[in-house]
Formats: sequence, C-alpha cells, structure tokens
Amino acid sequence: MIIVMKSDATKEEVEKVISTVKELGYKAHIIEGVLRTVIGAVGDERGKPHHLEAIGILSGVEKVVPILQPYKLASREFKSENTVVKVGNVEIGDNKVVVMAGPCSVENEEQIIETSKAVKEAGATVLRGGAYKPRTSPYSFQGLGEEGLRLLAQARKITGLPIVTEILDPHDLDVIAEYSDMLQIGARNAQNYALLRYVGRSNKPVLLKRGMSTTINEFLMAAEYILSEGNHNVVLCERGIRTFETATRNTFDLNAIPVLKEKTHLPVIADPSHGTGYWQYVTPMALAAIAAGADGLMIEVHYKPEIAQSDGGQSLKPSKFTALMERAKLVAKAVGRQI
Ligand code: PEP
Ligand code: MN
Repeated sequence: MIIVMKSDATKEEVEKVISTVKELGYKAHIIEGVLRTVIGAVGDERGKPHHLEAIGILSGVEKVVPILQPYKLASREFKSENTVVKVGNVEIGDNKVVVMAGPCSVENEEQIIETSKAVKEAGATVLRGGAYKPRTSPYSFQGLGEEGLRLLAQARKITGLPIVTEILDPHDLDVIAEYSDMLQIGARNAQNYALLRYVGRSNKPVLLKRGMSTTINEFLMAAEYILSEGNHNVVLCERGIRTFETATRNTFDLNAIPVLKEKTHLPVIADPSHGTGYWQYVTPMALAAIAAGADGLMIEVHYKPEIAQSDGGQSLKPSKFTALMERAKLVAKAVGRQI
C-alpha cells in the first residue's frame, strides 16, 4: 500500500501514520518528496486481519492506494521520479550516462593501476574489477580476494575513481565494504535471496546484475529483496540472458532497458561485455544501450586482454575503449544526455 500524505500534513501526522503502519506489522518506507511525503507500507500480509485502507481515516492522509505490481518499493507506482544513486561523488540515474570500466578480475598491481589510469583518461567515472570471482570451473582463477581489494583501493587513490566489486559470500561483506564504494551482485547470485537480504542491510549502494535466466519480473523481485531490507540505493544492470543463440556468449536484451525504465524508478545500466562475450560487438551494443535509455554502461577493459586471467576475449584494449567513449558521447548527445 502507498499512503500519500496531504501536502500540508504536519510532522506529527506523518509520525502517527508511520507508527500505525508499524503497529499493524508492516515496514514503513518513507519518501520525502518536494511536495508531499509518501509512505510505503510493505510486508507479509498473511494472517493479518487488519486492512491498511483504514489508515485513510488518520488526519493528514490524502489517500491510500494499493500497489498492483508484485514488486512494491521498486515500482514506479511507489515512486514516480527517477532514483539517483550516489557512488562516491558519482550520481547514477541522472541526465549523465555513467561509465564503469575496468578489468574482469584484478590480477596484479601493474594490471589494475595501468588499466584504471587508462579508463579514467578515456572518461570512465567508476572503476570495476573483481576480487572474488564466480567462475564456472573451480580450477579457474578465483580472484585475489582481499589482496585484490587492496589493489583496487590503491587504484582509487591514484585515479580518484570509486570502486564497484562483486560480493559472492555474505562473510566477505565487511571486508569488501571497507575497501569498496559499491557492491556488485553478479548474474549467478541474482536470485540468492539470503545474499540479497544481506546486502539490503548494508549501507553501500548495490549494483544488481540480471540473472542469466531471470525474467524482468524476477529481476525486479530480486531488487525488491534488497529494497525491502531498507537499502534503497540499487542500480540494475542488464548483462544478457541465455537463449538458444550460440553465436554470442549471451543474448543482450536491449528490450529490457526501456521496459525496466518504465516499470521502475531505479537506475538501469547495461553491460555489453558479458552481454555479447566478444570485444568486437561491445561498442555497437554499448551505443545501442545508450540510445535505448540506459543510465550507464559497464565495460570490461584490460591493458593486455591477450593475457587476461578471465574474460580477455570480451575485454577492450584502452585504445578501443577510448574510441567507444568518443562515439558514446555523440549518441548520448543525440538522445539528450551527456557523458
Ligand atoms: C563480471 O562482472 O565480471 C561478472 C562475473 O558478470 P556477470 O555476473 O554478469 O556474469
Ligand atoms: Mn567478467
């Protein structure tokens, strides 16, 4: 339910509604708009005889409306304006298209420092890099762990770029949160509800990637798990889905971008590196994603892709990434945005 307060509702009236929502056994999520306060009352409705509609009789309440979508806090019904998520000093979800770039995995000092300098120089504003890697084979490089986080922090010190890095295991949350600015939930964990709840209790922004076989509805329900724990700083990332097509690693679902932008207020970014799996397709799909309305891009860049420990085949060399950025600026301008 959404409880819309009157524009002249007093602080006490808002407080009364919040305490009543809690008394009825629901969580109250508050959005302080410019004109009025809106309170989202969400929670498990089983076994609760009370009807939230009755809250409408409290003073200061303008109306009580049900949220029809299965996802509540993620829906545009709950919040019509775009959410802007801050990562360091970077704002995602505003007019500016934010580009996150860096290697698939952090491998060593030279690799991450050289690559981070190159992506910064080309205009990226967030550095990506995995320290804990979800690999298909247990025999593949699994990431440097905490040492990788230290190297990322060193790269941030040199370049000033905030860091996004993946969390696989709730036990690593404290150490990852200590070094990074944004937590990434990868495709393989997109429906790991325990992990989603866990990061929902942290105060770090979360980059949630779409699962390989999740529908848009399931993707939004995954975001809802994080939001429902109180962390409202969630950015969604379309990274391709599994289909019958084998010419590319995944099928990059360009449709998802406008669909998500319609259904949710959360920022939506696109990862054409994993979406295509081949470096030569990354730039065209990155441009297409911006044209389709993406709020940002995530691009894998490696100073020497030929010796990358993971995803070298889909990683751009710095010179190719610089060229992508130049073209991306033109497309962004054409659709009324900036980079
Ligand atoms: C990654 O970003 O390196 C990654 C593993 O992505 P995904 O979870 O989308 O496969
Ligand atoms: Mn990768």
